[in-house]
Amino acid sequence: MKQQKVQEYEYCGICEEPKENGIHLYSMFLCSECEHNMIHTEPREEKYQYYLSKLKNINQSTLHS
Ligand SMILES: [Zn+2]
Repeated sequence: MKQQKVQEYEYCGICEEPKENGIHLYSMFLCSECEHNMIHTEPREEKYQYYLSKLKNINQSTLHS
């Protein structure tokens, strides 16, 4: 019998791709790549608003549950 190890990836809430490494922010999984990108994004950058709106979504769903 062969034992198969199933690698479990979680879907990142920002880039929506299955990633192995990352952190959990509220109910959302944030891959280390996006976490890094977010930290190095300036508030005046367009990307920042995108991250912010993604984060707002998880805040709201946390409040409603
Ligand atoms: Zn990501």
